[in-house]
Amino acid sequence: MTTATTAGIQYRFTRCVTDPAVVGEALSKPNYGLNTDAPREIVMSDRHELADNLGVPVVWMRQIHSDIVEVVDETHSSHENSITADAVITRSPVALAVQVADCVPVLLWDEATGTIGAVHAGRAGVEKAIVAKAVSTMLSMGCSTRDIVAAVGPSICGRCYEVGDDVFETAVSKRPELESRTSWGTRSLDIRAGVLKDLETCGVTNVIQDDRCTFESAHLNSYRRNPRCGRQIGLVVNRKL
Ligand SMILES: [Zn+2]
Repeated sequence: MTTATTAGIQYRFTRCVTDPAVVGEALSKPNYGLNTDAPREIVMSDRHELADNLGVPVVWMRQIHSDIVEVVDETHSSHENSITADAVITRSPVALAVQVADCVPVLLWDEATGTIGAVHAGRAGVEKAIVAKAVSTMLSMGCSTRDIVAAVGPSICGRCYEVGDDVFETAVSKRPELESRTSWGTRSLDIRAGVLKDLETCGVTNVIQDDRCTFESAHLNSYRRNPRCGRQIGLVVNRKL
């Protein structure tokens, strides 16, 4: 499902088939992750089809769990992961994609200035406040927190994301709001809570949430459920009307 705003900005969080018996070597259908074990030509085919259907070029990130925010334009569009970053912002007529399989995909837009952003927020990115840094970049480009809307997509939830003691203590010392418990009673992290905290701290109050859990949903890839999985995407599209 794609949701459109009045200014020609659209966003969606893709779903997919993940049953190994059905998808075979593709790992998921579709699978947008070039860094998965799926044959490259299968992922490229899914990426080409996406861009053809959108009618605008897509910017794909080489995501490295950093806090790198890049402002991009048409020259960064490609079917490859052509820019190393974990957040991209643009005012150009392109689509921005963030690839995920448990991490939180966050889409941002500001209709008043025609600015869009896509953020990859996993545990490491949340610890580094990647979402706040992306919002800050938008503000530096003339956006206003009053006009920014954030869509927070499906990710592994706090009841499923079990972590060891070292990871738990490091994360919670940096970001106390991540502290959680699995449904089976062990230490876990709620990375979505960190994303929401960043948005709150920045003053972004227009927040749309898709709170499906990737680990619990058969229609979403989850690295924790199956490390040999594909990638779904969060996608935000800027159409200059
Ligand atoms: Zn869950």
